[in-house]
Amino acid sequence: MRTERCQVLIIGAGPGGYVCGIRAGQLGLDTIVVEGKAPGGTCLNVGCIPSKALIHAADEFHRLATPNKIGIATGAATLDMAQTQAWKDGIVARLTHGVSGLLKKAKSRLIVGRAQILDGKSAQVETPEGPVRIECENMVIASGSHPTQLSALPFGGKVISSTQALALSDVPKTLAVVGGGYIGLEIGTAMAKLGAQVTILEAADHILPQYDAALTKPVEARLRELGIDLHLNSMAKGLSAKGDLQVAASEEQIDIPADHILVAVGRVPTTQGFGLEGLALKMAGNYIAVDEKCQTSMRQVFAIGDVTGDPTLAHRAMAQGTVVAEHIAGQPTVWDKRAMPAVCFTDPEVVVVGKLPSDDVASAVFPLSASGRAMTMDRTDGFVRVVYDESSELVLGLQAVGAGASELAGEFSLAIEMCATLTDIAQTIHAHPTLGESVQEVSLMGLGQALHL
Ligand code: FAD
Repeated sequence: MRTERCQVLIIGAGPGGYVCGIRAGQLGLDTIVVEGKAPGGTCLNVGCIPSKALIHAADEFHRLATPNKIGIATGAATLDMAQTQAWKDGIVARLTHGVSGLLKKAKSRLIVGRAQILDGKSAQVETPEGPVRIECENMVIASGSHPTQLSALPFGGKVISSTQALALSDVPKTLAVVGGGYIGLEIGTAMAKLGAQVTILEAADHILPQYDAALTKPVEARLRELGIDLHLNSMAKGLSAKGDLQVAASEEQIDIPADHILVAVGRVPTTQGFGLEGLALKMAGNYIAVDEKCQTSMRQVFAIGDVTGDPTLAHRAMAQGTVVAEHIAGQPTVWDKRAMPAVCFTDPEVVVVGKLPSDDVASAVFPLSASGRAMTMDRTDGFVRVVYDESSELVLGLQAVGAGASELAGEFSLAIEMCATLTDIAQTIHAHPTLGESVQEVSLMGLGQALHL
Protein backbone atom coordinates (compact mmCIF):
# COMPACT_ATOMS: atom_id res chain seq x y z
CA MET A 1 0.00 0.00 0.00
CA ARG A 2 1.21 3.51 -0.86
CA THR A 3 1.98 5.73 2.12
CA GLU A 4 1.81 9.53 2.00
CA ARG A 5 3.02 11.84 4.77
CA CYS A 6 1.90 15.40 5.45
CA GLN A 7 1.74 18.09 8.12
CA VAL A 8 -2.01 18.60 7.72
CA LEU A 9 -4.58 15.99 6.71
CA ILE A 10 -8.05 17.40 6.09
CA ILE A 11 -10.98 15.00 5.82
CA GLY A 12 -13.68 16.55 3.63
CA ALA A 13 -13.43 19.22 0.92
CA GLY A 14 -16.58 21.20 1.67
CA PRO A 15 -16.30 24.95 2.39
CA GLY A 16 -14.58 24.19 5.71
CA GLY A 17 -12.10 21.64 4.40
CA TYR A 18 -11.18 23.23 1.07
CA VAL A 19 -10.69 26.70 2.58
CA CYS A 20 -8.54 25.15 5.32
CA GLY A 21 -6.58 23.34 2.58
CA ILE A 22 -6.02 26.50 0.54
CA ARG A 23 -4.96 28.59 3.56
CA ALA A 24 -2.69 25.82 4.91
CA GLY A 25 -1.03 25.52 1.50
CA GLN A 26 -0.59 29.30 1.27
CA LEU A 27 1.13 29.19 4.65
CA GLY A 28 3.60 26.60 3.39
CA LEU A 29 2.16 23.62 5.24
CA ASP A 30 2.41 20.30 3.45
CA THR A 31 -1.31 19.52 3.17
CA ILE A 32 -3.52 16.72 1.90
CA VAL A 33 -7.28 17.12 1.51
CA VAL A 34 -9.30 13.92 1.15
CA GLU A 35 -12.76 14.05 -0.37
CA GLY A 36 -15.08 11.07 -0.73
CA LYS A 37 -17.49 12.64 -3.24
CA ALA A 38 -16.85 15.92 -5.04
CA PRO A 39 -14.78 18.96 -4.03
CA GLY A 40 -17.00 21.75 -2.69
CA GLY A 41 -19.01 19.49 -0.37
CA THR A 42 -22.67 20.05 0.36
CA CYS A 43 -22.51 23.75 -0.36
CA LEU A 44 -21.27 23.70 -3.93
CA ASN A 45 -22.76 20.38 -5.02
CA VAL A 46 -26.14 19.99 -3.35
CA GLY A 47 -26.65 23.06 -1.13
CA CYS A 48 -26.03 26.79 -1.33
CA ILE A 49 -25.13 27.08 -4.99
CA PRO A 50 -27.62 24.75 -6.76
CA SER A 51 -30.43 26.02 -4.52
CA LYS A 52 -29.68 29.66 -5.34
CA ALA A 53 -29.45 28.84 -9.05
CA LEU A 54 -32.86 27.16 -8.90
CA ILE A 55 -34.31 30.09 -6.93
CA HIS A 56 -33.01 32.51 -9.56
CA ALA A 57 -34.48 30.44 -12.40
CA ALA A 58 -37.81 30.24 -10.58
CA ASP A 59 -37.85 34.01 -9.97
CA GLU A 60 -37.18 34.73 -13.64
CA PHE A 61 -39.88 32.33 -14.79
CA HIS A 62 -42.41 33.60 -12.28
CA ARG A 63 -41.75 37.23 -13.21
CA LEU A 64 -42.34 36.47 -16.89
CA ALA A 65 -45.52 34.58 -16.14
CA THR A 66 -47.10 36.96 -13.61
CA PRO A 67 -49.25 39.98 -14.50
CA ASN A 68 -47.76 43.22 -13.18
CA LYS A 69 -48.65 46.87 -12.87
CA ILE A 70 -45.42 48.12 -14.45
CA GLY A 71 -46.69 47.94 -18.01
CA ILE A 72 -44.83 44.84 -19.10
CA ALA A 73 -46.99 42.32 -20.93
CA THR A 74 -46.75 38.79 -19.63
CA GLY A 75 -47.25 35.84 -21.89
CA ALA A 76 -47.21 32.11 -21.99
CA ALA A 77 -43.81 31.60 -20.37
CA THR A 78 -42.46 28.12 -20.93
CA LEU A 79 -39.92 26.17 -18.97
CA ASP A 80 -37.43 23.62 -20.21
CA MET A 81 -36.51 22.04 -16.86
CA ALA A 82 -33.80 19.90 -18.46
CA GLN A 83 -32.07 23.06 -19.67
CA THR A 84 -32.57 24.74 -16.30
CA GLN A 85 -30.93 21.77 -14.59
CA ALA A 86 -28.11 21.71 -17.14
CA TRP A 87 -27.47 25.43 -16.54
CA LYS A 88 -27.44 24.85 -12.77
CA ASP A 89 -25.16 21.80 -13.10
CA GLY A 90 -22.81 23.86 -15.27
CA ILE A 91 -22.40 26.40 -12.47
CA VAL A 92 -21.76 23.60 -9.97
CA ALA A 93 -19.18 21.98 -12.29
CA ARG A 94 -17.40 25.30 -12.82
CA LEU A 95 -17.15 25.96 -9.10
CA THR A 96 -16.15 22.47 -8.02
CA HIS A 97 -13.50 22.37 -10.75
CA GLY A 98 -12.38 25.77 -9.45
CA VAL A 99 -11.91 24.33 -5.94
CA SER A 100 -9.56 21.64 -7.29
CA GLY A 101 -7.64 24.34 -9.14
CA LEU A 102 -7.38 26.58 -6.08
CA LEU A 103 -6.05 23.70 -3.94
CA LYS A 104 -3.49 22.91 -6.64
CA LYS A 105 -2.45 26.57 -6.85
CA ALA A 106 -1.90 26.56 -3.08
CA LYS A 107 0.19 23.36 -3.50
CA SER A 108 -2.20 21.31 -1.38
CA ARG A 109 -2.80 17.78 -2.62
CA LEU A 110 -6.39 16.57 -3.20
CA ILE A 111 -6.99 12.83 -2.91
CA VAL A 112 -10.40 11.59 -4.02
CA GLY A 113 -11.66 8.67 -1.95
CA ARG A 114 -13.31 7.97 1.35
CA ALA A 115 -11.04 8.32 4.39
CA GLN A 116 -11.14 5.85 7.25
CA ILE A 117 -9.48 7.21 10.37
CA LEU A 118 -7.01 4.72 11.89
CA ASP A 119 -5.89 6.91 14.81
CA GLY A 120 -5.27 10.62 15.47
CA LYS A 121 -2.22 10.57 13.20
CA SER A 122 -3.26 8.38 10.30
CA ALA A 123 -6.05 7.43 7.93
CA GLN A 124 -6.55 5.08 5.04
CA VAL A 125 -8.21 6.19 1.82
CA GLU A 126 -9.80 3.95 -0.76
CA THR A 127 -8.96 5.57 -4.08
CA PRO A 128 -9.73 4.31 -7.60
CA GLU A 129 -6.01 3.45 -7.84
CA GLY A 130 -6.07 1.39 -4.64
CA PRO A 131 -5.72 2.07 -0.90
CA VAL A 132 -3.46 4.88 0.33
CA ARG A 133 -2.26 5.27 3.92
CA ILE A 134 -1.80 8.87 5.02
CA GLU A 135 0.28 9.78 8.06
CA CYS A 136 -0.05 13.29 9.40
CA GLU A 137 1.09 15.64 12.15
CA ASN A 138 -2.32 17.37 12.37
CA MET A 139 -5.73 16.06 11.43
CA VAL A 140 -8.71 18.31 10.56
CA ILE A 141 -12.17 16.75 10.53
CA ALA A 142 -14.39 18.61 8.06
CA SER A 143 -16.83 15.84 7.23
CA GLY A 144 -19.90 18.10 7.18
CA SER A 145 -23.49 16.98 7.52
CA HIS A 146 -26.29 15.12 5.76
CA PRO A 147 -30.09 15.46 5.75
CA THR A 148 -32.04 14.31 8.80
CA GLN A 149 -34.32 11.36 8.09
CA LEU A 150 -37.68 11.00 9.83
CA SER A 151 -38.37 7.45 11.02
CA ALA A 152 -42.00 7.81 9.92
CA LEU A 153 -40.96 9.07 6.48
CA PRO A 154 -37.69 7.43 5.47
CA PHE A 155 -36.09 8.68 2.26
CA GLY A 156 -37.00 6.61 -0.78
CA GLY A 157 -39.72 6.58 -3.43
CA LYS A 158 -41.67 9.82 -3.28
CA VAL A 159 -40.01 10.89 -0.02
CA ILE A 160 -36.98 12.95 -0.98
CA SER A 161 -34.26 15.05 0.63
CA SER A 162 -33.09 18.49 -0.51
CA THR A 163 -30.43 16.77 -2.62
CA GLN A 164 -33.03 14.99 -4.76
CA ALA A 165 -35.38 17.99 -4.75
CA LEU A 166 -32.67 20.13 -6.34
CA ALA A 167 -32.14 17.56 -9.09
CA LEU A 168 -35.75 16.90 -10.15
CA SER A 169 -35.99 16.51 -13.90
CA ASP A 170 -39.58 17.81 -13.95
CA VAL A 171 -41.50 20.29 -11.87
CA PRO A 172 -43.84 18.12 -9.80
CA LYS A 173 -47.57 18.86 -10.05
CA THR A 174 -47.79 18.66 -6.28
CA LEU A 175 -45.06 18.93 -3.66
CA ALA A 176 -45.41 18.62 0.10
CA VAL A 177 -42.58 20.08 2.15
CA VAL A 178 -42.08 18.88 5.71
CA GLY A 179 -40.26 21.62 7.59
CA GLY A 180 -40.61 25.39 7.46
CA GLY A 181 -36.91 26.11 7.98
CA TYR A 182 -34.88 27.94 5.35
CA ILE A 183 -34.12 24.89 3.16
CA GLY A 184 -37.77 23.79 2.92
CA LEU A 185 -38.97 27.34 2.34
CA GLU A 186 -36.36 28.12 -0.32
CA ILE A 187 -37.03 24.97 -2.35
CA GLY A 188 -40.81 25.06 -1.74
CA THR A 189 -41.04 28.67 -2.91
CA ALA A 190 -38.94 28.00 -6.01
CA MET A 191 -41.09 25.00 -6.96
CA ALA A 192 -44.29 27.03 -6.44
CA LYS A 193 -42.93 29.74 -8.73
CA LEU A 194 -42.13 27.08 -11.33
CA GLY A 195 -45.75 25.94 -11.23
CA ALA A 196 -46.00 23.22 -8.56
CA GLN A 197 -48.88 23.19 -6.10
CA VAL A 198 -46.91 23.33 -2.86
CA THR A 199 -47.94 22.54 0.70
CA ILE A 200 -45.58 23.36 3.56
CA LEU A 201 -45.89 21.91 7.06
CA GLU A 202 -44.23 23.44 10.09
CA ALA A 203 -44.49 22.02 13.60
CA ALA A 204 -44.02 25.42 15.30
CA ASP A 205 -46.49 28.29 15.26
CA HIS A 206 -44.45 30.22 12.70
CA ILE A 207 -42.00 29.48 9.93
CA LEU A 208 -38.24 29.92 10.55
CA PRO A 209 -38.96 29.24 14.23
CA GLN A 210 -35.53 30.38 15.45
CA TYR A 211 -36.48 33.96 14.53
CA ASP A 212 -39.21 36.20 15.93
CA ALA A 213 -42.60 36.22 14.27
CA ALA A 214 -42.29 39.88 13.16
CA LEU A 215 -39.36 38.93 10.96
CA THR A 216 -41.08 35.96 9.39
CA LYS A 217 -44.54 37.49 8.86
CA PRO A 218 -43.74 39.10 5.48
CA VAL A 219 -42.42 35.73 4.24
CA GLU A 220 -45.55 33.98 5.46
CA ALA A 221 -47.74 36.54 3.69
CA ARG A 222 -45.85 36.04 0.45
CA LEU A 223 -46.07 32.24 0.66
CA ARG A 224 -49.84 32.57 0.84
CA GLU A 225 -49.83 35.13 -2.01
CA LEU A 226 -47.92 32.60 -4.14
CA GLY A 227 -50.70 30.08 -3.48
CA ILE A 228 -48.65 27.90 -1.13
CA ASP A 229 -50.74 26.02 1.37
CA LEU A 230 -49.03 26.64 4.71
CA HIS A 231 -49.92 24.50 7.73
CA LEU A 232 -48.46 25.68 11.03
CA ASN A 233 -48.55 23.63 14.26
CA SER A 234 -48.63 20.58 12.02
CA MET A 235 -46.65 17.35 12.24
CA ALA A 236 -46.02 14.83 9.47
CA LYS A 237 -47.03 11.37 10.71
CA GLY A 238 -46.24 9.09 7.79
CA LEU A 239 -47.72 7.85 4.55
CA SER A 240 -51.26 6.54 4.18
CA ALA A 241 -51.94 3.27 2.35
CA LYS A 242 -52.77 5.45 -0.68
CA GLY A 243 -49.36 7.16 -0.42
CA ASP A 244 -50.71 10.48 0.83
CA LEU A 245 -48.83 12.41 3.50
CA GLN A 246 -50.61 12.04 6.81
CA VAL A 247 -50.52 15.15 8.93
CA ALA A 248 -51.62 15.92 12.47
CA ALA A 249 -52.63 19.58 12.13
CA SER A 250 -53.65 21.75 15.10
CA GLU A 251 -57.27 20.66 15.13
CA GLU A 252 -57.57 17.87 12.64
CA GLN A 253 -55.91 14.95 10.93
CA ILE A 254 -55.39 15.55 7.20
CA ASP A 255 -54.08 13.56 4.27
CA ILE A 256 -52.15 15.52 1.65
CA PRO A 257 -51.71 13.94 -1.79
CA ALA A 258 -48.30 14.81 -3.26
CA ASP A 259 -46.10 13.63 -6.14
CA HIS A 260 -43.06 14.24 -3.96
CA ILE A 261 -42.62 14.81 -0.25
CA LEU A 262 -39.54 16.84 0.59
CA VAL A 263 -38.36 16.21 4.14
CA ALA A 264 -36.31 19.22 5.23
CA VAL A 265 -36.20 19.03 9.00
CA GLY A 266 -32.54 19.76 9.59
CA ARG A 267 -29.17 18.15 9.08
CA VAL A 268 -27.13 15.62 11.05
CA PRO A 269 -23.38 16.03 11.53
CA THR A 270 -21.43 13.32 9.69
CA THR A 271 -19.50 11.74 12.55
CA GLN A 272 -20.13 8.03 12.02
CA GLY A 273 -18.87 5.33 9.70
CA PHE A 274 -15.30 6.51 9.06
CA GLY A 275 -13.49 5.60 12.25
CA LEU A 276 -14.07 8.84 14.13
CA GLU A 277 -15.70 6.92 16.98
CA GLY A 278 -12.31 5.29 17.64
CA LEU A 279 -10.82 8.65 18.66
CA ALA A 280 -13.42 8.93 21.47
CA LEU A 281 -13.47 12.72 21.09
CA LYS A 282 -15.48 14.82 23.55
CA MET A 283 -18.84 15.59 21.99
CA ALA A 284 -21.30 18.45 22.48
CA GLY A 285 -24.55 16.60 21.82
CA ASN A 286 -24.24 15.19 18.29
CA TYR A 287 -21.46 17.61 17.41
CA ILE A 288 -17.71 17.44 18.00
CA ALA A 289 -16.78 19.75 20.89
CA VAL A 290 -14.10 22.31 19.94
CA ASP A 291 -12.36 25.21 21.67
CA GLU A 292 -11.69 28.70 20.28
CA LYS A 293 -8.98 27.30 17.98
CA CYS A 294 -11.29 24.50 16.76
CA GLN A 295 -9.09 22.04 18.67
CA THR A 296 -10.95 18.89 19.76
CA SER A 297 -10.32 17.05 23.02
CA MET A 298 -7.38 15.28 21.30
CA ARG A 299 -4.18 17.29 20.71
CA GLN A 300 -3.53 18.15 17.06
CA VAL A 301 -6.95 16.90 15.99
CA PHE A 302 -9.21 19.76 14.88
CA ALA A 303 -12.82 19.93 13.69
CA ILE A 304 -14.50 22.60 11.57
CA GLY A 305 -17.80 23.32 9.88
CA ASP A 306 -21.11 21.51 10.22
CA VAL A 307 -19.62 18.78 12.46
CA THR A 308 -19.00 21.42 15.15
CA GLY A 309 -22.50 22.76 15.64
CA ASP A 310 -24.88 25.60 14.86
CA PRO A 311 -25.25 27.64 12.85
CA THR A 312 -24.39 25.12 10.16
CA LEU A 313 -23.53 27.58 7.42
CA ALA A 314 -20.87 27.63 4.73
CA HIS A 315 -19.28 30.94 5.75
CA ARG A 316 -18.86 29.71 9.33
CA ALA A 317 -17.14 26.56 8.05
CA MET A 318 -14.82 28.65 5.86
CA ALA A 319 -13.92 31.01 8.70
CA GLN A 320 -13.14 28.07 10.99
CA GLY A 321 -11.01 26.51 8.24
CA THR A 322 -8.92 29.67 8.10
CA VAL A 323 -8.51 29.80 11.89
CA VAL A 324 -7.26 26.19 12.03
CA ALA A 325 -4.77 26.57 9.16
CA GLU A 326 -3.34 29.75 10.70
CA HIS A 327 -3.16 28.17 14.16
CA ILE A 328 -1.30 25.10 12.84
CA ALA A 329 1.09 27.44 11.02
CA GLY A 330 1.88 29.04 14.37
CA GLN A 331 -0.03 32.28 13.88
CA PRO A 332 -1.71 33.82 16.96
CA THR A 333 -5.27 33.33 15.79
CA VAL A 334 -8.46 32.46 17.66
CA TRP A 335 -12.17 32.24 16.91
CA ASP A 336 -13.33 35.63 18.17
CA LYS A 337 -16.11 36.49 15.75
CA ARG A 338 -18.85 38.77 17.03
CA ALA A 339 -21.03 38.57 13.93
CA MET A 340 -22.37 35.45 12.22
CA PRO A 341 -24.72 36.43 9.40
CA ALA A 342 -27.55 34.10 8.42
CA VAL A 343 -29.50 34.62 5.23
CA CYS A 344 -32.67 32.86 4.12
CA PHE A 345 -33.11 33.20 0.38
CA THR A 346 -36.85 33.11 0.79
CA ASP A 347 -39.21 35.59 -0.85
CA PRO A 348 -38.75 38.17 0.63
CA GLU A 349 -35.24 37.40 1.85
CA VAL A 350 -34.41 37.40 5.53
CA VAL A 351 -31.04 38.44 6.91
CA VAL A 352 -30.16 38.16 10.56
CA VAL A 353 -26.98 39.23 12.31
CA GLY A 354 -26.47 39.47 16.07
CA LYS A 355 -29.04 39.91 18.79
CA LEU A 356 -32.78 39.73 18.18
CA PRO A 357 -35.06 42.14 20.09
CA SER A 358 -35.64 41.33 23.77
CA ASP A 359 -36.72 43.12 26.93
CA ASP A 360 -33.19 44.15 27.92
CA VAL A 361 -32.32 45.98 24.69
CA ALA A 362 -33.84 48.73 22.54
CA SER A 363 -34.78 48.37 18.89
CA ALA A 364 -36.02 50.45 15.95
CA VAL A 365 -37.75 49.35 12.77
CA PHE A 366 -37.75 51.11 9.40
CA PRO A 367 -40.45 49.82 7.04
CA LEU A 368 -39.46 49.30 3.42
CA SER A 369 -42.76 50.95 2.47
CA ALA A 370 -40.86 54.19 3.21
CA SER A 371 -37.86 53.25 1.04
CA GLY A 372 -37.66 54.90 -2.39
CA ARG A 373 -35.50 52.02 -3.66
CA ALA A 374 -38.00 49.41 -2.49
CA MET A 375 -40.77 51.32 -4.32
CA THR A 376 -38.77 51.36 -7.55
CA MET A 377 -38.34 47.59 -7.22
CA ASP A 378 -42.10 47.29 -6.69
CA ARG A 379 -41.45 45.37 -3.47
CA THR A 380 -42.16 47.35 -0.32
CA ASP A 381 -42.95 44.41 1.95
CA GLY A 382 -40.54 44.07 4.85
CA PHE A 383 -38.36 46.20 7.09
CA VAL A 384 -34.88 46.83 8.44
CA ARG A 385 -34.38 46.59 12.19
CA VAL A 386 -31.60 47.60 14.52
CA VAL A 387 -31.18 46.23 18.04
CA TYR A 388 -28.97 48.35 20.29
CA ASP A 389 -27.89 49.15 23.80
CA GLU A 390 -29.78 52.27 24.81
CA SER A 391 -27.11 53.86 26.99
CA SER A 392 -24.05 53.27 24.79
CA GLU A 393 -25.87 53.24 21.39
CA LEU A 394 -23.79 50.13 20.59
CA VAL A 395 -25.37 48.14 17.76
CA LEU A 396 -26.00 44.58 18.96
CA GLY A 397 -28.08 43.21 16.11
CA LEU A 398 -29.26 44.08 12.61
CA GLN A 399 -31.99 42.25 10.77
CA ALA A 400 -33.98 42.76 7.61
CA VAL A 401 -36.70 41.13 5.62
CA GLY A 402 -37.21 42.31 2.08
CA ALA A 403 -36.63 41.59 -1.59
CA GLY A 404 -32.87 41.82 -2.14
CA ALA A 405 -32.17 42.15 1.60
CA SER A 406 -29.48 39.45 1.47
CA GLU A 407 -27.08 42.04 0.09
CA LEU A 408 -27.30 43.92 3.40
CA ALA A 409 -25.59 41.02 5.21
CA GLY A 410 -22.12 42.45 4.61
CA GLU A 411 -22.92 45.87 6.07
CA PHE A 412 -24.71 44.29 9.03
CA SER A 413 -21.76 42.03 9.85
CA LEU A 414 -19.17 44.74 9.39
CA ALA A 415 -21.09 47.10 11.68
CA ILE A 416 -21.25 44.55 14.48
CA GLU A 417 -17.70 43.25 13.98
CA MET A 418 -16.38 46.84 14.11
CA CYS A 419 -18.50 47.66 17.22
CA ALA A 420 -20.45 50.38 15.40
CA THR A 421 -22.79 52.66 17.30
CA LEU A 422 -26.04 54.05 15.91
CA THR A 423 -24.20 57.32 15.26
CA ASP A 424 -21.46 55.54 13.28
CA ILE A 425 -24.05 54.13 10.89
CA ALA A 426 -26.23 57.24 10.85
CA GLN A 427 -23.25 59.45 9.95
CA THR A 428 -22.01 57.13 7.18
CA ILE A 429 -23.21 58.38 3.81
CA HIS A 430 -25.25 55.65 2.12
CA ALA A 431 -25.78 55.88 -1.64
CA HIS A 432 -29.19 56.95 -2.90
CA PRO A 433 -31.38 55.18 -3.88
CA THR A 434 -30.34 51.86 -2.31
CA LEU A 435 -31.76 49.50 0.28
CA GLY A 436 -28.67 50.35 2.31
CA GLU A 437 -30.18 53.77 3.05
CA SER A 438 -32.72 51.95 5.20
CA VAL A 439 -29.86 50.86 7.48
CA GLN A 440 -28.88 54.51 7.91
CA GLU A 441 -32.54 55.48 8.40
CA VAL A 442 -33.17 52.85 11.06
CA SER A 443 -30.08 54.07 12.93
CA LEU A 444 -31.39 57.64 12.73
CA MET A 445 -34.68 56.35 14.10
CA GLY A 446 -32.85 54.83 17.07
CA LEU A 447 -31.31 58.25 17.70
CA GLY A 448 -34.73 59.93 17.45
CA GLN A 449 -33.64 61.72 14.25
CA ALA A 450 -35.57 59.90 11.50
CA LEU A 451 -35.51 61.90 8.25
CA HIS A 452 -37.79 59.96 5.97
CA LEU A 453 -40.47 58.66 8.29
P1 FAD B 1 -19.86 19.85 3.81
O1 FAD B 1 -20.09 20.92 2.84
O2 FAD B 1 -20.99 18.97 4.16
O3 FAD B 1 -18.66 18.99 3.25
C1 FAD B 1 -18.18 17.85 3.89
C2 FAD B 1 -17.47 16.99 2.87
O4 FAD B 1 -16.80 15.94 3.56
C3 FAD B 1 -18.41 16.32 1.89
O5 FAD B 1 -18.02 16.64 0.58
C4 FAD B 1 -18.25 14.82 2.17
O6 FAD B 1 -18.31 14.04 1.00
C5 FAD B 1 -16.86 14.80 2.76
N1 FAD B 1 -16.62 13.64 3.64
C6 FAD B 1 -17.35 13.26 4.72
N2 FAD B 1 -16.81 12.16 5.28
C7 FAD B 1 -15.71 11.86 4.54
C8 FAD B 1 -14.74 10.83 4.61
N3 FAD B 1 -14.77 9.89 5.54
N4 FAD B 1 -13.78 10.82 3.67
C9 FAD B 1 -13.71 11.76 2.70
N5 FAD B 1 -14.61 12.75 2.59
C10 FAD B 1 -15.59 12.80 3.49
N6 FAD B 1 -25.14 27.55 3.88
C11 FAD B 1 -24.96 28.88 3.67
O7 FAD B 1 -24.10 29.48 4.32
N7 FAD B 1 -25.74 29.57 2.77
C12 FAD B 1 -26.70 28.97 2.05
O8 FAD B 1 -27.37 29.61 1.24
C13 FAD B 1 -26.89 27.58 2.23
N8 FAD B 1 -27.84 26.92 1.52
C14 FAD B 1 -27.99 25.58 1.69
C15 FAD B 1 -28.96 24.92 0.94
C16 FAD B 1 -29.14 23.57 1.08
C17 FAD B 1 -30.20 22.86 0.26
C18 FAD B 1 -28.31 22.83 1.99
C19 FAD B 1 -28.48 21.35 2.14
C20 FAD B 1 -27.35 23.47 2.74
C21 FAD B 1 -27.18 24.86 2.59
N9 FAD B 1 -26.24 25.54 3.35
C22 FAD B 1 -26.07 26.89 3.17
C23 FAD B 1 -25.40 24.86 4.36
C24 FAD B 1 -24.00 24.60 3.82
O9 FAD B 1 -24.09 23.82 2.66
C25 FAD B 1 -23.16 23.88 4.89
O10 FAD B 1 -23.19 24.63 6.09
C26 FAD B 1 -21.73 23.74 4.43
O11 FAD B 1 -21.63 23.02 3.24
C27 FAD B 1 -20.91 23.04 5.53
O12 FAD B 1 -19.58 22.92 5.10
P2 FAD B 1 -18.65 21.77 5.67
O13 FAD B 1 -17.33 21.98 5.03
O14 FAD B 1 -18.72 21.74 7.13
O15 FAD B 1 -19.30 20.40 5.19
